[in-house]
Parts: sequence; structure tokens; C-alpha cells
Amino acid sequence: MGFVVGVDLGGTATKLALFDKTGKVLNIGQVETRTADGGEHILADISSEVRSLLTREGIALQQLQGIGVGVPGPVMDGRTVIRCINLGWGQTDVASFLEQELGCECRIGNDANVAALGEAWKGASRGTHSSVMITLGTGVGGGVIINDKIIAGFRGGGGEVGHFPIHPGAEGRLCGCGNAHCLEAFASANGVAASYLSATGQHLSCREVFDAAKSGEGKALAVVDEMQHLLGRALAYLASALDPEVFVVGGGVSKAGHFLVEGIQKYYDKYVFPPIKGAKILLAELGNEAGVYGAAKLALGD
Ligand SMILES: [Zn+2]
Repeated sequence: MGFVVGVDLGGTATKLALFDKTGKVLNIGQVETRTADGGEHILADISSEVRSLLTREGIALQQLQGIGVGVPGPVMDGRTVIRCINLGWGQTDVASFLEQELGCECRIGNDANVAALGEAWKGASRGTHSSVMITLGTGVGGGVIINDKIIAGFRGGGGEVGHFPIHPGAEGRLCGCGNAHCLEAFASANGVAASYLSATGQHLSCREVFDAAKSGEGKALAVVDEMQHLLGRALAYLASALDPEVFVVGGGVSKAGHFLVEGIQKYYDKYVFPPIKGAKILLAELGNEAGVYGAAKLALGD
């Protein structure tokens, strides 16, 4: 006993890492996520890569304490994916399949929630018991950790902060979810690029907008300021509901660094309910590894 595998199941590739119980990574693996045939090969591929990881480290299957999996979709009861359009899955009992294949306990979670757990275990929010992570990538995801546990919600939608209907403008902007005022449509990488395009008529990537803002270009600064404003307000709403110790900002857009989080912190401090002021907004530390760390923590339990 004492070994766990963390799995980060992504739309094109699945990453795995074998951990000892102290959280040390012993070996890593990766398999292609085969989404053909309704995604029916995905779990068998994971199972065989887990066996191969153990073999490479000379560890018997009986010594595997558990397996944790982060999946790109809503999860019920830590076991079942409700649906996963990217993988071709309808409702899928991931935990039962892997438990049967590998003979150990399996826990699963939504990937953004699992990343938040990873940061809380070994990353930026380590040492805290309550934190909220917001992930700024092509979309906006999030994860809420309270008393060291993921808040997954009744319908598996806990932590979906990207769909806060936060934009005050009457015009709105269509989000992938079908609504029109979501944070994601304005604060994701695509959202920032779209804001710059509508302000200037020019196509720049999110990264180029940040680079221009850092060098003082007025229109880019205004676009970034508006994004930070929305994020600061969103985090202030979350603080009123949850009062976490810290916030963590991750995802590809967070490569913009302190320039990004300082602006969010400024607006957060402006809007947050004064008696609970004080939460710091930190940059994520684990990058793309947050998923396997969080999944391993799920498998380890308390
Ligand atoms: Zn939305």
C-alpha cells in the first residue's frame, strides 16, 4: 500500500503520475486520449498505462492504494461523469470501471476542481484549508476547496465561476454555454482577444494584448483593466459566499504574471465586503501538473 496514481484526462492527451503517499512523484506517463468510438477505449488505455507505470517502478498492483482522475466534465458523487462532450461520453461510471480493472479505490473529479485541489496540496495555496482557484485559458474554469474538500455541488457544477453572469453591458457576448453575459466570454484568452477586436478593429492574441498593455498601449491597457475589473468583482462575490483564505489564478493567461493579478487584487479589494477583506490573489505554481497532483490527492483522501 501507499502508492497512488493521479490521472489528468484531457481532450487530446491523458497524463498520469505515480506518487508515494508523501506526494513525491516516482514516475510519469502519458497516453493519447482516443475519442473515437464514443470514447470507449479511454478507460482501458488508462488502466493499461497505470499497470505499465507500476511495472516500471517494480511496484505490485496490490501495493496500489488508489487512483484519482480529473475529467473534463461535471462529476457526481466522486464517481460518475454526467457527460463529457469532448470525449464522446454520456453518463459514464469511471470509478467502477477502473476499480474493477485495477482492484483499488478510484475517485474522480471535474478537472478544474481537481487542479484547485492540486494547488491546495502542493502548489500556491498549500497549507490553506479553504481556497478558490480560477483558471483563465481558452475558457474560464474554477474550483472551490473548503475544509480541504472540493465543493462539487448537487449537479456537479460547483466551481463553474466562468459562467457568472457578470458583464453589466446590455450588448452581452455569446458564451459557449448559450448565455450572454458570462465572465468566460470576457475574461478568457478568447474573451480578451474579442474585447480588443471590438475596441480597435484589430486582431491580436490575448498574449499580444497583454504585451501591448505592459508596454503602455492605451487601448490594450483599457481592455486588460476591464478584464481585471470583472475578475475582481467575481472574486468579491465568491468571497461573500465562501470567505476563502486565498484565491489562486492559473491557466495559460496567468503567464501574464503579477501584472495580471495586481489589477485583479486592486478591484477585489475595492469590491469585497470590508469585514472579510484580506484574501491574497496568488499565481498558480503547478502549471499543467496541477491536475495530476490534485487527482493523486483525491486518491490519497485525508
Ligand atoms: Zn457561459
